[in-house]
This record gives sequence, structure tokens and C-alpha cells, in this order.
Amino acid sequence: MDKKFQAVVTPASPRIMTERPPRIDAKNVNIHYGEKHAIKDLSISIPDRAVSAFIGPSGCGKSTFLRSINRMNDTIPACRVQGDIRIDGSDIYDPSLDVVQLRARVGMVFQKPNPFPKSIFENVAYGPRIHGLAEDKAELEDIVVKSLKKAGLFEEVKDRLNHPGTGLSGGQQQRLCIARAIAVSPDVILMDEPCSALDPIATAKIEELIDELRQNFCIVIVTHSMQQAARVSQLTAFFHLGTLVEYGDTDEIFTAPQEKRTQDYITGRFG
Ligand code: ADP
Ligand code: MG
Repeated sequence: MDKKFQAVVTPASPRIMTERPPRIDAKNVNIHYGEKHAIKDLSISIPDRAVSAFIGPSGCGKSTFLRSINRMNDTIPACRVQGDIRIDGSDIYDPSLDVVQLRARVGMVFQKPNPFPKSIFENVAYGPRIHGLAEDKAELEDIVVKSLKKAGLFEEVKDRLNHPGTGLSGGQQQRLCIARAIAVSPDVILMDEPCSALDPIATAKIEELIDELRQNFCIVIVTHSMQQAARVSQLTAFFHLGTLVEYGDTDEIFTAPQEKRTQDYITGRFG
């Protein structure tokens, strides 16, 4: 494994960081749903141009923390986020920040593919249009085609761009959602169990795609599959009961973790 992903664990603080400059930098994050303390004093620095996988037993807070990175938790009234989360150094909870802009910079792909009830073309064109990324129709078309190509979908849909996105297979819909996310040139792509509704062949295609996208993006993927984490990520974060236990090189997390709780989880002692 490429040592540039070597993680540095600072024993003096719960802060876990990598040697590469972070794209996402979270410090002392606490998240509550009413009385429920879902994320406990979590600090992590996530580098650019790599895939980081969040693993851990169901209910340990993976989705909760992921959603805090593009403020999707804002839509849950009982949810309260405290602490500091920065992307490229700027505080994403700054009251003056435009959340719509943030969610374009930090795209999200969900468990169930959720294309808009519009054409394939419009699904991808929507973001660039509302964010004014294209000067004219030709430029918009160019963005749509490039995004569909990057998402590995163009060849399959080029003859039916005006057909509804919802008419595609599940795997194609998920690649359409990825094309929609990348069409606005995000910095970060968050994926919450993006393959859990897909068959093994569609899953393999998404995993291949994730591997290509990491050349250009900071990708964070929540997965309940340790095999998937091992296949697609360079870095893995193990969550347990609302805390980040360990974050480091995927190879090391799976072969020589520093924490006993990680060891117990990856060897199937709980989960
Ligand atoms: P994971 O993604 O690791 O399975 P979640 O982030 O979904 O875990 O959940 C973490 C904890 O927060 C769980 O105890 C869960 O029940 C609770 N939780 C998640 N979403 C909500 C919500 N909308 N309202 C209240 N509690 C929630
Ligand atoms: Mg989840």
C-alpha cells in the first residue's frame, strides 16, 4: 500500500489525521438527536483524492456524521450539531454560508437511487443550470455529456437522453445520480451505502467508478460491507457507539488495527 496514506494517530488527543493536507477537517464534533448523543467528540482529517470508508455496526453514527459534512442534518429538526467542520479551511457551519452552494460543493449519493422525475438529460443539467455553470445550451450539453461519461453511463443512454431517468435500471439510476453530483464539479462526494439496493454486477460497476473518481475527488463512503471497504477505499474509519475508534490506511485497519475494538469488529466478534 502506498505510504502517502499513512495515518498519524496523535495519542495526546483524539484527533486522527493523515499526512496529506485535509480537504475535510472536523474537530470535536458532537451530534445529538434530542437527548440521544449520536456522535461523541469526533475529530478527523480526511485527505483529497482518496476514498475514505466509514465502517462499523448499524446505529454507530456513520450516516449521522456523513450528513453533517454537507449539512443534510439541518433538515432533521431534532438534530443538533456542535463542533467545527471545515472544508478547505472554511467553516461549513458559518451562519453566512449558503447551504445550497455547500451542497453543490459537497455532493451526496444515497442508498436508494433517487433521480428526479425528469429526463436523463435534465437530471444532470439541473445543477449546472441553477448554479449558472453554463453560458449557453451547447456548454450545458457538453457538461451533461462529460458528466455521464465520467459516471460510466453515457454509452448506455446516449440514444435516449430525453427518456425519464426513473426508467433506467437500479444500477444505471445510481450512476445517473453520481453523474448529477459530479456535474456541478464538487470538491467532495459523500455516498451513504450507495450499493445496498443493487445487485452484484451493478455494485461492481459502481465500485469501479468510485475507483476512477478518486483521481479527482475526495470521496467518503459509508458501507456496511467490510469487503466493499477493503475493495474501494484507501483509508478506513471504524465507528463504534458514536465514537471514531480508528482511522487509517485500509490495509492496516484490516490487517493490523491499533485498537482492540477494531480488531474484534473486523474479525466478526460483534457487529
Ligand atoms: P449508522 O448509519 O451507523 O447505522 P445512524 O447515523 O443512522 O447510524 O444512527 C446513529 C444513532 O442515531 C442511532 O442510534 C439512531 O437510532 C439515531 N438516529 C439516526 N437518525 C435519527 C433521527 N432522524 N432521529 C433520531 N435518532 C436518529
Ligand atoms: Mg447509516
